[in-house]
Amino acid sequence: MLKELVVVSGKGGTGKTTLASSFAYLSENKVIADCDVDASDMHLILQPEIKQVKPYTGRKKAKVIEEECTLCGICVDECRFDAITDINQINPIKCEGCGVCKIVCPVDAIEMVPTQAGELYLSESRYGPLIHARLFPGEENSGQLVSLVRQFAKITCGTKNKDLVIIDGPPGTGCPVTSAITGTNLAVVVTEPTLSGIHDLERVVEVIRQFKIKPTVVINKYDINPEMTEKIENFARENEILLLGKIPFDERAVESVVDRKSVPEYCDCELSEIIKEIWEKAFSLLREVVDESGA
Ligand code: SF4
Ligand code: SF4
Repeated sequence: MLKELVVVSGKGGTGKTTLASSFAYLSENKVIADCDVDASDMHLILQPEIKQVKPYTGRKKAKVIEEECTLCGICVDECRFDAITDINQINPIKCEGCGVCKIVCPVDAIEMVPTQAGELYLSESRYGPLIHARLFPGEENSGQLVSLVRQFAKITCGTKNKDLVIIDGPPGTGCPVTSAITGTNLAVVVTEPTLSGIHDLERVVEVIRQFKIKPTVVINKYDINPEMTEKIENFARENEILLLGKIPFDERAVESVVDRKSVPEYCDCELSEIIKEIWEKAFSLLREVVDESGA
């Protein structure tokens, strides 16, 4: 049965991709989905070979039909996003697609057309198939693109006979995160022992629970603030969130990224052993959850 595990965090830079790429290295028979489409970086570690590029169409945007336009200027005045910089000239980055210009145009000289907002990549890497994407600058609605990445990851599982999707989720609690979380079997939240780390953890867990998914937590750089680490451990215990493990601060985590490797691929060291134990716990729990759901 297909299993989906998502790694998320309350904010960027907490070690989410370090853990997700390590899981991708340690797991078998999987497809990797980089759902952090606003700042994807899994491809930097995996150095994949892109096999297919698919255009991602975002929301519709306004376009002037020049032959019809009488240059009256009404649309310029009515666009509250200042996207019509000059008569006939619509700035696609500024256009929010609200359609007001189309409504006010007296001669129906504006049409709303779908525009490409990003690209989706189907790639092969040394860890296995990687599905990733890039949202063009200024484009929004990355939640939809995240859903597309996940959809293609599942299709790839089917075509390549894989049974696991490792998802590197976006940070935060917004729409892209809910798109990355929904329908998964297990969520691993990476947090750091800071005051904001605890608050972020609380918020992310709340979102995860709304989708009836089991939350677990990993404390990264736990030894930089033992007092905060204890608070996170207490919070996890009181809220029945399984603590998968604690990762110490270690320069090798950064060195591995610089060397374009996951930690366990980079070094046979204590840090790798800790991450392996975390993965084993996570995978065992993932299997339990999937078995229960299929029972
Ligand atoms: S669709 Fe909305 S944002 Fe875009 S140009 Fe027209 S009025 Fe401006
Ligand atoms: S409102 Fe219509 S006719 Fe007037 S400038 Fe805009 S596009 Fe042209």
